Amino acid sequence: MKHPKTERTLVIIKPDGVQRGLIGEIIRRYEQSGLKLVGLKMVVPTKDFIEKHYLINPEWRRITGEKTIESYRKNGKKPPSDDPIKVTEVILNNLKKYLSSGPVVAMVWQGMHAVGIVRKITGGTEPLTSDVGTIRGDLTIDSYEVSDVDGRAVRNLIHASGTPEEAEAEIPLWFSEKELLNYRLISEAILYDVNLDGILE
Ligand code: GDP
Ligand code: MG
Repeated sequence: MKHPKTERTLVIIKPDGVQRGLIGEIIRRYEQSGLKLVGLKMVVPTKDFIEKHYLINPEWRRITGEKTIESYRKNGKKPPSDDPIKVTEVILNNLKKYLSSGPVVAMVWQGMHAVGIVRKITGGTEPLTSDVGTIRGDLTIDSYEVSDVDGRAVRNLIHASGTPEEAEAEIPLWFSEKELLNYRLISEAILYDVNLDGILE
């Protein structure tokens, strides 16, 4: 087994995060957790690239469609279709427009439980219901209801990989091996070293 401190995750600050002037605040929140930034760039993705990104997980269409249909039903509303694939088609088209509309900031964060820690700091997908204290909960205000009425993607500031497997598939799409840096942070000693002798003089 690889040591968990080598776990990596992909984070994208979406165009609304860049336009709102939140790049610094968002990076601060991940950085202060103790995770290490190992890759960083600003790009304007194409629609084709965004489609590739979301379809990297062959189950994404079905899972996202089922999740969306369930959330309509839970709120006593009729989903736009009973077919998860059709529901996801609309979401994917909206995501392609949204994420190719301007610069985004792509990052790779590394460290123990990187995927889970980043998901926790990021918060749930829908800003209206994501927890207070999270990026999506604190820094923006959108909902599925309003984004659906307006026929656009929900503006939730961030993409963050959902699982370590998803991260390892997504990272090579956004970064070449050369763009990911191998280095040590002094602060890693206090997070990971088994033996803390050497602090007292
Ligand atoms: P994430 O990992 O938290 O970003 O969420 P998912 O991977 O499940 O979904 C990816 C993107 O699809 C989200 O960021 C939303 O833009 C969109 N999405 C997911 N679920 C729903 C939903 O129930 N309704 C709508 N309108 N969009 C959704
Ligand atoms: Mg996801």
